[in-house]
This record gives sequence, C-alpha cells and structure tokens, in this order.
Amino acid sequence: MQLSTKVEELNGVGSATASALRRLGIKNLGDLINHYPKRYEDYSKITLIKDAKAGQISIRARLANIKSLYGRKRGLHVTTALASDATGSMHVTWFNQPYRAASIKANAEYFLSGKYDFSGTFLTLLNPSIELVSDFPANTARILPVYPETKGITSHKLRKLLVQNESVFKSVKEYLPQEIIDFAGIGSFADTLRKLHLPNDSQELQEAIADLGFRELFEVTLASQLLRIDLQKYRSRHIKIKESSLRRFVDGLPFKLTPGQKLTAWQALKDMSEATHPMNRLVEGDVGSGKTAIAAIVAFNVIKSGGQVAVMAPTELLANQHFQSMQEYFGKNLEDGEIALLSSSLNTPRRKLVIDGLKTGKIKLIIGTHALFQSYVEARNLELLVIDEQHRFGVNQREFLLAKAARMPHVLTMTATPIPRSLALVLYGELDISVLAEKPPGRQKITTKLISLSQRLDLFKAVIEQSSPTNQVFVVCPNIDSPDQADSISKTEEWLKKHFPNLGYGVIHGRLKAQEKEEVMSDFLNGKFNLLLATTVIEVGVNIVNALNMIILSPDRFGLAQLHQLRGRVGRGQRPANCFLCLNDNEPPTKRLRLIEKLDDGFKLAEADLELRGPGAIYGTRQSGQLDLRVAKLTDVKLVSKAREAAKEFVALDLKLIKYKKLHAKIVYLQKITNLN
Ligand code: ADP
Ligand code: MG
Repeated sequence: MQLSTKVEELNGVGSATASALRRLGIKNLGDLINHYPKRYEDYSKITLIKDAKAGQISIRARLANIKSLYGRKRGLHVTTALASDATGSMHVTWFNQPYRAASIKANAEYFLSGKYDFSGTFLTLLNPSIELVSDFPANTARILPVYPETKGITSHKLRKLLVQNESVFKSVKEYLPQEIIDFAGIGSFADTLRKLHLPNDSQELQEAIADLGFRELFEVTLASQLLRIDLQKYRSRHIKIKESSLRRFVDGLPFKLTPGQKLTAWQALKDMSEATHPMNRLVEGDVGSGKTAIAAIVAFNVIKSGGQVAVMAPTELLANQHFQSMQEYFGKNLEDGEIALLSSSLNTPRRKLVIDGLKTGKIKLIIGTHALFQSYVEARNLELLVIDEQHRFGVNQREFLLAKAARMPHVLTMTATPIPRSLALVLYGELDISVLAEKPPGRQKITTKLISLSQRLDLFKAVIEQSSPTNQVFVVCPNIDSPDQADSISKTEEWLKKHFPNLGYGVIHGRLKAQEKEEVMSDFLNGKFNLLLATTVIEVGVNIVNALNMIILSPDRFGLAQLHQLRGRVGRGQRPANCFLCLNDNEPPTKRLRLIEKLDDGFKLAEADLELRGPGAIYGTRQSGQLDLRVAKLTDVKLVSKAREAAKEFVALDLKLIKYKKLHAKIVYLQKITNLN
C-alpha cells in the first residue's frame, strides 16, 4: 500500500464508490488519510450487559432469536434479536435493514455499538453497528471517528477503508526537522495521523489532536518569524520626525485628529526614526476610523525629509478616492505635479509623464494600484510604501521594491479587517500593530435589521420611496448571475423591474471593466440615480456620503466580517444610516446573523467569526487559498506558546528551511496567504 495507491485499486471500492470518494477530494490513500475526522464517538469501552444504562454503548455478545418482520401499519422493516453475554441479555433492534437477519451467524461472537434507548416501552440497542470479534473491528468497540460525508460515502465506509489499509500510515514521511520533534516532544507524523484516524484509546486521540495542532501552529508561527527575520536583514534610512512642520500639517487638516489617530501616527513616525531596519507596521481600524489621514501625516514627514511615498490601493476606484483625499489633506503642502495618480486608464503620454516624474523625483507622492509594481515604474527615492486594504503583499513584491528603490522602503499596511488578538499573535508574533479603537466624533450609528422574505417588498417600497440624491441606497447581491442561487444581480433586476417599473438604478460588479465601474460609481456619487445594485466590489473603502441605506440580500452567504465591511459603506456622513439584511426565507435567523444585528464593533464580530468559522473566514480568499487550521485551537494558549518557542528554536538552531522540502512549501504558502508584514 502506498500513499499514491488509487482508491479504485482498493478492496471494496467500485466505480460508484470511487466517484463518490472523489467528491470528497479523495483520489488515493494519501487523500484518504488527509481527510480528517470532524468529531468522535467513543465506543471503546465494552459494557457488561448487566451494567448497561441508556446511552451510547458497546457490548460483546452472541445473538439469538433473530426475527425479521415487516410492519405494514408503519411501513417499517424491523429486525430484532436477543444479545447475550456472560452477565445477561438485552434486546437489539434494527429498523429498515432487512439484510441484517440473513447476515448474522449463530454462535459467533460480535461487537455491537449503538445507542441503548427506549423503543416504545422497553430498552433496546438501536440500529447498532455490528462486527465479528474475530475480524479486526473498524466500526465497533473503539473510538469511532465521524467524517465529513457525502452521498454514497458514510463514515462507516471510510473507517472500513482505513482499517483495511492501515499499513499505509507507515509510508507517511516525516517533514519536520528531528530537532523540532525532539524539542516539542511530539510523535512522528505517521504515528500521529494513525492515532487521529484509528486511535486505540482516548489518550492516543488526545495526543494526536495536540500534536497535529502543534504542527499547524508551528508552521504559521514559523512562517511569520522567518519573514520578520528576513525583513531585519534590510537596511532603511532613519527618517527624523520634523515636529514643527508636522504640527502645522496636522493643524491644516480639515478636522481635529482623534487620540487613536495621533497615537498611531506617532508610533509609525517613531518606527521610521529609530529602527535601522524597515518599519513594518500594521494599522487596524474599522471602516471610517480615519486611516487615510494617518497615511497622509506619515507620508508628509517622509516627503519633508526628501523621500518619495507610494500609496497602493486594491482597486482603481479606491486609488482614485485616495488621490482626492490626499490632495485635500496635503493642500498647499504639495505643489502641482508633486502628487500623481498612476491609473491604468491614463493615456500613453500622461502615463509617460507620471513614470518620468517618478524617475526624476519630481513626483513625491504617487497613488495607484498594483500597476505600481510594473517593471517600468522606478522610484529610486522611495522611502515609504503605504498599502491600503491589502493582505497579499508578497515576498516577490518586496524584492521587486528593493530592486527599484535604493533601499528597502518602510511599509505601513492599513486594514479594516479586524484581526482578533489570538490570531494576530500566531500570525504576526510581536509584529508592530496599531489599533484604531475609536471613530471620529459625530459619526452616526448604523442600525442593522434582519428582514424576512415576507417583509422584503414593503422594505423596498419604503426605502425607494424615501430615496433621493441625498438619500441613496445600495442593494448588495451575493453574486452576479448564478442561475442556481437566489438573489443574484440578474434575478434582482428582474424582480425590481416587476415591482418598480419606473425605477432608475445603476449596476456594478466585478465583471465590468475598471473604467465602466468608475463611471457607474461617479454617476451614483453625482446622484444620476439613487439606487445602486452591486456585488461586493463596493466592499472596500468607497466613500459615498449620501448613501443612507443598504439592503443586503441573502446575508447568510457572506461572512460576518464581510457583512460588517459592507455596512460600513453607509453612514459615512453625519446622518444616521440603516443596513437591512434580507433573509431569503421566513425562518428564524441564524445565531451568526443575530450577532451582526446586535454588535457594531468590528473586533467583537471578528472574534465571533473566528470562533464560528475558523481563521479561513478572515483569510478566506479568492485566488490564494485559505488559512485553514483544521485541528489547532487558537484559544489554546499553552499550545500557541509551545509552537512559538519551537519556531524560535528553529531559528536559534539556524536550521535551513530549504532542506525540508514539504515544510518549505507549506511555509511559502502560508506566507503568501497571510502576509501583512
Ligand atoms: P478609513 O480609511 O479608516 O475607512 P477614511 O480615512 O476614509 O476612513 O475616513 C473616513 C471619513 O472620516 C473621511 O471622510 C475623513 O475625512 C473623515 N475623518 C477622518 N478622520 C477624522 C477626524 N479625526 N474627525 C472627523 N472626521 C474624520
Ligand atoms: Mg480607507
């Protein structure tokens, strides 16, 4: 048996089973053992029949009085038997398993595992799994893993396959350095996986879960520590804090800074003035907390010291908004031609002008999207890169920067995705993080309300009736035109046309070209229509001050963090705003949705999301995959700290990652999907 052995080659796997297995992503034995149990049922203790109490039990018994009946009244096929061991007898009942009677051998000894419970007026062992004691048991008398299943593949079947092919665990190779295994005192990977799937007792199971959890946490921690070390190899310029100029700049801003903005800006300024290696600070602040102003302050100080600054946004739309905000915040502090937008919609001569301006150093502040990372963009004097709403700033881009700038620039990353403390600790170690706790004063509350399907039309009527160029509405759909899903853009358009035939509205989604999106957004901004039908493309950063109502359709299709981001698109001005979550049925809402109705703090929601859906909910991402901790609990403080110690040990021993191929691949992957530093 080998990890690469195809499931079709296994005993008891026909083509139907094989294709069902494929639906679970299981093509070979390696995939099979990579399909982790989601929970366990403990049938390992054999109960003497005389001691049996109601509940989950296993017995070891012989069967007699086997009867098979068809109850016409209830339409049920019932098989009954009497199970006996040396201490007593009990009833056994199977419903709708007509093949049972024929398969039971008299005089043979069996393990039976199932629920001992009332059926009618007497206690009986209900629908137990049954296996001969003389066979090696897969489904009785042990701790039974319960797997994610699919039609045609039960946990029963998976357990059978695992037991039949148990020898394959021996071919699982270790991928961690022996030094780390010794340091952490964990079992080999092969042994750990065997214990996870086929634990002999509860202690083995606990060990497997702890050791796998350790491995996951170790990998994530190591990924972040190695990045940090990498970064410290680079040298950056000290950038002095020009206090009096800064004070004048801040006084010139259109508002008074919040304490959080002041503190965060100060922390970033200090990073850049003190450290010899590049600043690597993450600013976390809820939508609308005023992160752009922080970027402006820090950028100003760099520009005053003769450096260039780049601000990178995830979309053209946002780059455009930043460009406008920065022009407003900088005012006369930058002359014409010292600030520029590098957008894909620039025509060739204007693009050339920007490229040249960067090269000669005339442009001090450049704002753009990933277009900034084009090979023809060169800014030798780039001292600071501000990355807005962007999780995936990879190692490659860092190297690219280094090639294009004389020194490694300082990096300030800003995100509105609140990263729960427990996750941040694992992902970023003691990385420099600033949290903007409060919002600017005078901000109105966004009221969130769950709306059932039967209330939907009335809601739309009310909201559309009130709408005007100064009271605009977002309607957010979970997808564009997927035919098998409710509430797509196209279905919603049909619905709107039917109920509101005279309504003017705009539509925006990811399939439009950047320029088309921009046109729709600016038409909306200018009040050409009062209702915008959108997908999550509006999620990040967009500032439409007149948007007072948001209606989100099928909110169950979004993560909590994402819903929170979305509703942050309304209430950007001084007036109160509403977010309506329109369920697509009349059932009671889930716990998750009730949470978002109740909580308006992004951090609390992120914690809740982490608990309910795991870190994948936060790094649940499009292209790059998911951060998927399958076993580890981030709340397990001891294990987290053990993993961090081991990662430090890895560094202290100067182990070479490149020598551990599989670990290396995992680390590269993790750095790619989680990298903020
Ligand atoms: P974020 O990027 O954190 O979501 P922005 O930087 O876009 O938030 O700021 C949101 C709005 O709040 C902008 O209109 C901005 O001008 C305003 N703003 C920022 N800081 C303050 C402040 N201290 N007082 C009042 N308004 C502020
Ligand atoms: Mg922003």
